[in-house]
Formats: sequence, C-alpha cells, structure tokens
Amino acid sequence: MDFFRRFMAGRYGSDPLNNALLILGIALIIVARILGWAWMNVFILALLCLCYFRMFSRNIQARYAENEKFMRWWRPVSNRIRGAQGRFADRKTHCYFKCPECGQRLRVPKGKGKIMITCPHCHTKFDRKT
Ligand SMILES: [Zn+2]
Repeated sequence: MDFFRRFMAGRYGSDPLNNALLILGIALIIVARILGWAWMNVFILALLCLCYFRMFSRNIQARYAENEKFMRWWRPVSNRIRGAQGRFADRKTHCYFKCPECGQRLRVPKGKGKIMITCPHCHTKFDRKT
C-alpha cells in the first residue's frame, strides 16, 4: 500500500466522472454479454483505459475541469432522480402540486380535502383537493 500511495502522489485519482465511467463500463459489459455484442468490447476497453488515464493523470487541472463539466450536467439530473425518489417514498402521505404562477413544486399532506395553498416562492394562492 505504501508503494501505491507513493505512486499516486501528484496524480489525480478518482472523481464522480470516473465513477460514472466505471459504472457505464460495467453496464456495457452486462449489455454486451446479454446481446452477444463482441464488438462492444472495444468500447468497453477504451472506456476503462480512459478511466485509468484520468486516475493516474498528473494534469490535475485538466481532469478537474472535465469533472466540473460533467457535474454541471449531472447535478440537475441527480437532483431530479432524488426528487422523484422522495416523492415516490411519501406518495401515500403527501401530494405534490406545481404552482400555477412560478412552477415551483409544492408538497402538501394528503387527505385534507380541498385546501388553499400559498406558494412559498411567489405567494400565489390556489386551491387543490388532496
Ligand atoms: Zn409560485
């Protein structure tokens, strides 16, 4: 492990982009296995090479910039996934409405009948059945 630590000194290491590439690589391996796409191995190998290249790269700034670009795209996607997971988890106790004025998503408890909702963002009032 001491050798590895010395080897990795001054090198970039792992980041969310690399993790995503690895997950994509593993997913492609599975898909290629199921569909029998031997040619896919070229892409998988290229993907894994890219992963190792980024991990052991000494050009930390360039790798950091790549990851930032990826995160700019990934952050809203992951937020949406997390939001959908949360809404699914409490679908029995809460309703979700979109504010007709500003489109803000509002969470209200379920089973209260017709209620007046005030948007906390733009203070528009509207009523909905829950
Ligand atoms: Zn609003």
